[in-house]
Amino acid sequence: MLAAAYHSVVVPQKLEEIRAVETVIAPVDDDSLHRAAEVLRAGGLVAFPTETVYGLGANALDAAAVSRIFAAKGRPATNPVIVHVADSSDVALVAAAWPDTAAQLAQRFWPGPLTLVVPKSASVPDIVTAGGPTVAIRCPDHPVARALIRTAGVPVAAPSANRSTELSPTRAEHVLKSLKGRIPLILDGGPCPGGIESTVVDVTAARPRILRPGLITAAMLEAVCGPVDVGAALSGVARSPGLMAKHYSPRTPVVLASTAAEAEQLCRQCQQAGLRPIVVSCEAGSGQCRLPNDPARYARELYATLHELDDGRFDRLIVQLPPDRPEWAAVRDRLLRAAAKNENG
Ligand code: AMP
Ligand code: MG
Repeated sequence: MLAAAYHSVVVPQKLEEIRAVETVIAPVDDDSLHRAAEVLRAGGLVAFPTETVYGLGANALDAAAVSRIFAAKGRPATNPVIVHVADSSDVALVAAAWPDTAAQLAQRFWPGPLTLVVPKSASVPDIVTAGGPTVAIRCPDHPVARALIRTAGVPVAAPSANRSTELSPTRAEHVLKSLKGRIPLILDGGPCPGGIESTVVDVTAARPRILRPGLITAAMLEAVCGPVDVGAALSGVARSPGLMAKHYSPRTPVVLASTAAEAEQLCRQCQQAGLRPIVVSCEAGSGQCRLPNDPARYARELYATLHELDDGRFDRLIVQLPPDRPEWAAVRDRLLRAAAKNENG
């Protein structure tokens, strides 16, 4: 039913039409924050840290500004972007309704890595929502993100600050690697403490639905609002970007293994084929690259580790999946996408 409400949105700028700009990385201070806020108010783009990953922000109420995000990232126009607010009270600027469930979840988890999908207000341009009737809103828990949004005085549309389908950035240098010459300003606030993207929950139906898993787990949500569904409904929202198979991918192919033995076997096969593999694992005694055996710490290091291994030294990144348990759902989701082979632009 929702699918019928979606219509195609034309992104005005093609990739080739982006004029090369000098990209400045600025340490965060009063001066750079004010400069960044001015860039946003003038319709420009600013990359900034959040507690999840670095975001590429634009004034969410300015369609031309948001179209620059799509052009800089090479993001398909069918992918809606999340709108960031400095305070819960600012949702009225972009939401036409605020269901009780949204209020309960925001009360408990905001500021924080939880995105709520609600009916959009008329002030939100179509390009933000991919032409859909809903808008995804989040109040980030990062002092720089909140100070920037507050200083700019506008809600800020911001997907991750990387070229479409590439790995998300958790450090300013990751942003530079991906978007150098395509955006004017990166606010360097150090490494992001969360490390993976927010949990996205649609609260427009009677029962909330997790559209994208994140560090706020189903169990945490259920403790506040009762039963939640998991996975995309077969409607328009199924076209949202976190649901695209190939997303968050390094350039080096990622191959997944379920067990240490399988990872070892894949590694030997690669070596026999003359390839240079590396095994990444969180299981004690397994792999040449170890990640923490704890979901939150693993998430914090995941993208930085993949960025580091994606420098041409290896031909295959063989990742042993963490156990198929609810607390690992978000990490497993990102690894499955990193390994997905089909292209979505
Ligand atoms: P990213 O900006 O790359 O972190 O991805 C944005 C995420 O927000 C996607 O995974 C979508 O699931 C979600 N999203 C954004 N806007 C909407 C919307 N209007 N309806 C449903 N999901 C949305
Ligand atoms: Mg992204």
